[in-house]
Amino acid sequence: MYSDVQLFINGAWCDGAAGKSEPILNPATGQPLARLAHADRSDLDRALAAADAGFHTWRKVSAFDRYKILRKAADLMRSRADAIGLLMTQEQGKPLAEARAEAASAGDLIDWFAEEGRRTYGRIIPARAEGISQMVVKEPVGPVAAFTPWNFPINQAVRKVSAALASGCSVILKGPEETPASCAALVQAYVDAGVPAGAINLVFGTPADISGYLIPHPVIRKVTFTGSTPVGKQLAALAGQHMKRVTMELGGHAPAIVFEDADVDAAIALLSGAKFRNAGQICASPTRFLIHESVYERFVEGFVRAAQNVKVGNGLDPSTRMGPLANARRVQAMERLVDDAVSRGARLATGGKRIGTEGNFFEPTVLTGVGVDARIMSEEPFGPIAPILPFKHFDEVIREANRLPYGLAAYAYTRSLKTASAVSAALESGMVTINHHGFALPEVPFGGVKDSGYGSEGGSEAIEAYLNTKFVTQVGI
Ligand code: NAD
Repeated sequence: MYSDVQLFINGAWCDGAAGKSEPILNPATGQPLARLAHADRSDLDRALAAADAGFHTWRKVSAFDRYKILRKAADLMRSRADAIGLLMTQEQGKPLAEARAEAASAGDLIDWFAEEGRRTYGRIIPARAEGISQMVVKEPVGPVAAFTPWNFPINQAVRKVSAALASGCSVILKGPEETPASCAALVQAYVDAGVPAGAINLVFGTPADISGYLIPHPVIRKVTFTGSTPVGKQLAALAGQHMKRVTMELGGHAPAIVFEDADVDAAIALLSGAKFRNAGQICASPTRFLIHESVYERFVEGFVRAAQNVKVGNGLDPSTRMGPLANARRVQAMERLVDDAVSRGARLATGGKRIGTEGNFFEPTVLTGVGVDARIMSEEPFGPIAPILPFKHFDEVIREANRLPYGLAAYAYTRSLKTASAVSAALESGMVTINHHGFALPEVPFGGVKDSGYGSEGGSEAIEAYLNTKFVTQVGI
């Protein structure tokens, strides 16, 4: 079912020229699933030449024909979602239903960008003299280097690739080495739908070697990255040196604020669901739980119960609600964060340990009485740990929410319209969701501020990032 994963260069699947490969591990068992081919410099040179030629072919395809091809790719993702979900659960660990939903919802994202590609309108600007035409034209920026991570192997890639292709760009996607098969299946869907050779290329290898070579290369005109803030800063600096357009979707440390007048039961249900989804490995995951002191005890009690009810197991088991962490590094990171918080006086209300010795399972964990000096209050945990803290006053909770350099997502619960308006205005965050969890849909902007990056991966803003604006003025003769 799960077989070796290759590179896709200039319309063909291939091994790396040097024959290098690495094992792909199942995070639920620790056992190897298959091997992944690695690209070396000569493979990257071939991908660059293909992307260069592919750009000149693909940009000439009309927006309407690009739309038809992409819509077909969307349908293929929906019809293949069951099989692709199975690959994803084996390599990433998430429950099968979530993996299938991620593969199927790629169809909605492709549809959105396909349609947006038909609406890359320019404009006519009134001239100061008779006979002059002043036009603004939108053109594809050129070949794109896209770097995507392992937490949502399809969702992170489909946003970048679809925006690039819909706007007429070609793309070299550096997919996630730990979860490559579902990403490769996404690429196959575009190819089967009719995206021509060279317009889409997929490589894997040593991430720093690939980004270090592709980003400065003159063929590449745009860089888009999803991953951690430290790596994003390095890549943005490199792109800056070479004057490349950049989109950065980086880490977060989302505050989740529950005010005294909130529907506490709804907050517990929604926030615990969001916290333990994908084992907490989500950039927009709620992370600092800031609860008004008048409802603190009730919230903690309900949240701990919800954490204890999360069934942890192999994602292939239909009763599993939380799978393993995607790699062994995350388990070690969780252990370090819990030990650090407890050594500084936090109370472990539930969880706190790895489960068993096989695979990367970790208990859904709740910490209370956490001081702001604990590392978990500043470092992105990217795992199933929820630190819960009480607050008294509005200004105090806003100060804490905005304390960190991150600004991706923020959550708030209140029944007061006045508080809702005040909190959404005060939070330094790219996305604010109040009394429900409503972001990441194709048609709404997705992105952060501050150290969480810049640019958007959803909504009409997302396609703008792949377009140049050209001004043309002419006098009729
Ligand atoms: P990491 O920073 O080493 O890797 C994160 C991702 O970036 C991976 O996909 C990796 O292949 C890629 N990457 C790393 N160095 C790169 C480079 N020089 N050039 C190009 N790509 C590079 O960390 P990790 O251990 O894999 O993940 C841990 C942290 O990464 C998490 O704590 C989280 O902050 C962040 N992360 C964020 C997201 C997100 O959705 N924003 C997704 C995955 C990981």
